[in-house]
Amino acid sequence: MTEVDRVKCACSDCVCVIPPAKAVERDGRLFCGDACANGHASGSGCGHVGCQCSKG
Ligand SMILES: [Zn+2]
Ligand SMILES: [Zn+2]
Repeated sequence: MTEVDRVKCACSDCVCVIPPAKAVERDGRLFCGDACANGHASGSGCGHVGCQCSKG
């Protein structure tokens, strides 16, 4: 097993784990969505259930 089929979002506050194929790449890092990739610039979270990456 050399393939990683799930990666954690690079956002430090984010608990999301996503398949790399569906991740948003930004600066060589993989994020679960645009909100995380943008550093939550708009203040919104990724919107995934159970994740509070927008708070804090
Ligand atoms: Zn998140
Ligand atoms: Zn995220």
